[in-house]
Amino acid sequence: MAHILTLNAGSSSLKFGVFEAGDEPAELVAGLIENIGSPDAHMRLKSEAGAVLEDRDLSSVEGADHGGALKAALAVLKAHVSGLDVVSIGHRVVHGGMEFSEPAKLTADTIAQLEELVPLAPLHQPANLTGIHAAIAAFPGVTQVACFDTAFHRKHPFVQDTFGLPKEYYDKGVRRYGFHGMSYDYIAGALADMSPELGMGRVIVAHLGNGASMCGMKGGVSVSSTMGFSALDGLPMGTRTGQLDPGVMLYFMQQEGLSADEISDLIYKKSGLKGMSGISNDMRTLEASDDPAASEAIDYFCSRIQREIGGLAAAIGGVDALVFTGGIGENSVTIREKVCTGMEWIGITLSNDLNATRGETVISAADSPVQVMVIPTNEELVIARAAAKLA
Ligand code: AMP
Repeated sequence: MAHILTLNAGSSSLKFGVFEAGDEPAELVAGLIENIGSPDAHMRLKSEAGAVLEDRDLSSVEGADHGGALKAALAVLKAHVSGLDVVSIGHRVVHGGMEFSEPAKLTADTIAQLEELVPLAPLHQPANLTGIHAAIAAFPGVTQVACFDTAFHRKHPFVQDTFGLPKEYYDKGVRRYGFHGMSYDYIAGALADMSPELGMGRVIVAHLGNGASMCGMKGGVSVSSTMGFSALDGLPMGTRTGQLDPGVMLYFMQQEGLSADEISDLIYKKSGLKGMSGISNDMRTLEASDDPAASEAIDYFCSRIQREIGGLAAAIGGVDALVFTGGIGENSVTIREKVCTGMEWIGITLSNDLNATRGETVISAADSPVQVMVIPTNEELVIARAAAKLA
């Protein structure tokens, strides 16, 4: 049987999945290796149904780098997937720059193009490329495909793609790229399958996870994203600031004397829910806390989402559906309720009963003009589909 391997390489992690190849790839197993390059390197593998198949520390050799991690992953995959036969590999790549509006086959030329995009995503693109090089070394001759977080948003109209900077910067690529594209792509497809009418409609999707963004789409095409040039803009996230007045950056540099690296550390790793609460980036922990700082962080998170609903609705000319997805969007009854409270003016009326019922897709009241929905995302499936298509 032919298989598709999906890989998502982070700076110290490697997510991997195996799908049965076919018109619609079917997931068999999914794994995660964390803390690559540290003595704490660890691997977990789960079946499609969620059963834990492997949960173990890696040796210092296996966990030393992405190449070793991939070898360790392949060894367990061979043990758990009978007749493993990888015919194509799909990679998650954070940045496709101005060029890539679709997944692309990885050749020497496309890899060189992706390397040129490192300055646009200096924290993530190099890790993605490391994963690509490790996979090419392990599977020479197998088709490898890159899927980009930015690609789904490349059809934005100019006004949603630009900043108010001198034009030369736009031409150089200082644009609002938007991210989480695979998640939005999945939701657009799932929505069109559920309801062709909504698939053609004006839809706001809130991808609320440790990283969080929102997308306004019309007819399944992204018109506007809350994330911009980097994955920092828009909503506050687990540890990232979200929208920040650029004047604050000047203040950090000129008054606080912070270096670029110090500012990067502050706005990527020490801010958002974690920085505001002083407790955690994990929404479950904040929801369980009675510390007022935890409530303040949650209130800010929800109020930014409400604000972005207004802004995105203006960009797409109204709203027919609001879709929650991502770890928080799919699981937190409280956050969905807080976000929808007071939004009747735009046509959003939640059903508290449906919202509290696990597994419900439509959670709005029967007479709500806007359908509020919960749709679990599946970014890996989007990668596997692209790898199958281009193989
Ligand atoms: P993700 O990055 O999509 O995996 O989402 C991770 C986020 O989802 C973390 O902040 C988790 O705390 C949050 N999350 C997962 N399950 C729940 C839940 N039942 N209630 C609230 N937040 C949750």
